Amino acid sequence: MTSETLTLPYLNPDLAVSARVADLLDRMTLEEKVGQMLQLDARDDLDDHVLRRTVGSILHTSPERIVAARELTLRTRLQIPLLVGEDCIHGHSFWPGATIYPTQLGMAASWDASLLEKVARATAVEVAATGIHWTFSPVLCIARDLRWGRVNETFGEDPFLLGELASAMVRGYQGEGLEDPTAILATAKHFAGYSETQGGRDASEADISRRKLRSWFLPPFERVAREGCRSFMLGYQSMDGVPITLNDWLLSDVLRGEWGYTGTLITDWDNVGRMVWEQHVQPDITHAAAAAVSAGNDMIMNTPTFFEGALDAVAHGLLAPDAFDAAVERILTLKFELGLFENPRTPVDGLEQIIGSAEHAELNLEITRRSLVLLENDGTLPLRPAAPGGTLSPVAPGGAAATARVAVVGPLADDAQEQLGDWAGGSGQAGWLDGQPREMITTVLDGLREIAPWEIVHARGADILTLAPDPAGATWPDGQPRPPVVKPCAPDAVQIAEAVAAAEAADVVVAVVGDAQGLYGEGRSTATLELIGGQNALLDALVDTGTPVVVILLSSKPLVLPASVSNAAAVLWVANPGMQGGRAIAELLTGAIEPTGRLPISFARHAGQQPTYYNQIRGQHGDRYADLTQSPAWSFGEGLSYTTVSYSDLVLEEAALAASDTIVADVTVTNTGERPTIETMQVYVRDRVTSVSWADKELKAYRQVSLAPGESARVRIELPVEDCTIVDSAGDRVVEPGEFELLVGPSSRDEVLLTAGFTIT
Ligand code: BGC
Repeated sequence: MTSETLTLPYLNPDLAVSARVADLLDRMTLEEKVGQMLQLDARDDLDDHVLRRTVGSILHTSPERIVAARELTLRTRLQIPLLVGEDCIHGHSFWPGATIYPTQLGMAASWDASLLEKVARATAVEVAATGIHWTFSPVLCIARDLRWGRVNETFGEDPFLLGELASAMVRGYQGEGLEDPTAILATAKHFAGYSETQGGRDASEADISRRKLRSWFLPPFERVAREGCRSFMLGYQSMDGVPITLNDWLLSDVLRGEWGYTGTLITDWDNVGRMVWEQHVQPDITHAAAAAVSAGNDMIMNTPTFFEGALDAVAHGLLAPDAFDAAVERILTLKFELGLFENPRTPVDGLEQIIGSAEHAELNLEITRRSLVLLENDGTLPLRPAAPGGTLSPVAPGGAAATARVAVVGPLADDAQEQLGDWAGGSGQAGWLDGQPREMITTVLDGLREIAPWEIVHARGADILTLAPDPAGATWPDGQPRPPVVKPCAPDAVQIAEAVAAAEAADVVVAVVGDAQGLYGEGRSTATLELIGGQNALLDALVDTGTPVVVILLSSKPLVLPASVSNAAAVLWVANPGMQGGRAIAELLTGAIEPTGRLPISFARHAGQQPTYYNQIRGQHGDRYADLTQSPAWSFGEGLSYTTVSYSDLVLEEAALAASDTIVADVTVTNTGERPTIETMQVYVRDRVTSVSWADKELKAYRQVSLAPGESARVRIELPVEDCTIVDSAGDRVVEPGEFELLVGPSSRDEVLLTAGFTIT
């Protein structure tokens, strides 16, 4: 840097950020401003991105390219540092050796916001150390149709739970403030309504009204916007015919207007180009670029020709030359606030000690333990050790026989990379690694071999799928790869016979089944929810042996299990659990830990039941299908412990309340069994009569209560009356006076909830 540039105001850290931004903006050419709005794929031509298009940001940057990109910016006229972004969704996904946690859906099953905050903080520490400043996490989409391929990325189906957990992760990522070198920018995505797919199809037109958005889809976004989440990413869908990228009402009136959001808005991948080649709502990139800028977008993800299109739009009078200033100001503000002009935050020395540290592995194990949801248990779990000498001890009263030999079977019992799930290691979004180090991952087989005092035998039993190229061609019109097509494997008689032999010679079978890469992710929604490949035939054959079968469903999202599983001894759901999955599962099976996870999402009995979320709107003819109940297999909030818990004496302090009051109630929660637990006490509100149709009940609060065997706790619930809202026909969120019910208990099922009526005057 010359002494002249050193004295430029924008390089002076003593000046206010606004003054530095103004000075720099003044110096920028039109081309530099347009480039600043671009975020391009670092795997492409990095020289061209930085030197010719003068991009403001890059994503998908391999370790080597982070340093190369920084060096390139030093060759540009103004040396504006790059923002480096990545999808660090459940850990530093694509960094070799980084800690990979359970998926967002798995972490949501813990219902423990403080633990998620710690995970986000630990992730930020790893991410920041590698020279990445921005994570595209958390996902605030509400999971609605289980066939959607991105259910695993969500916190599940409930807007309140989602808001609690998203807020915690944003806090964790952004830490004490952006000036902290371990802080990274969080992204609330995908704004908003992307998950309201048709038939579960990814990025389809979302049939969603403004009132419906305000009712369930927007509240979590509003919360994090008001709490200071620094970036928002758009989805892919159109609503009412308008691509989200041009939704002026949502972007300007609601987000920046009503909520006063001052952060940065980034499109999703090639949203601007897609308006031309996919949605056919813009004639060419010039018009698409002009429309995107006019709608208030700040950063354009991966539409390289936005650069030429935007310049052309100015040349043809579609955009004024200063049309880019507001967006560029917001991007530069972020860069100054992160201190990137003083410290561009390239990879730090001692990275090896930070990445995948022992401390983070411990935290990972803790959240993984809490993410496991026990759905069924006939008393077989926890498995009881055999008597000394390995002989079988007699059946315990009410329980199962002791265990000497365990058959661990199933295609996912020992598949380390599959366990990590989407957006991690070899899941396909990054080309520079094909997995995480095997020795960092504990599979179920590893975990049991490590800690279980039994003889372990293993048989694979079934395959799931193979992948074939899409007959429609290898790439989309924009050159991006099309996802391959799934070919289910046929049941294999030899594999099944091996598994059956192992089962027959064992005291217990642990069968690890589920889905696999190819069946989840973007553009990979499923038409069905059944286990595919040889898995159903395997489970049928295992159950048929008469040996107790513990089914471990290791799956990206809720799936439908075969009828034979109603005769299994136990069912445990484990969303892709990350590196510590096998260890945590083994601890649960052996009784070293308690099952405390609760479903953040309901399980269907059949794909045709979609949608199965609990907070459905009242009013339909009947409440079942002609050929099936509408009741889910397992409902939101459910999950078993190794103990039993009872709820009693729900008492409201005051049953007639005014709008400014707080509902105060007490309830007794008692551990009636012989093991400790953490009980997730759920509080729902039902508004008995509403001026417009509304959900039958909604989660409004929850508490996690630790209870020793036999222990009782009188737990106080305090809920502001102003939380008992609906969205009226005008789209306003209001409390409507009238009769309400407070429902308290262990899940969203009516039959397990205590009820107390109250009125609001
Ligand atoms: C996804 C986003 C992701 C982005 C960058 C998009 O296709 O929808 O969730 O952050 O790619 O990888």
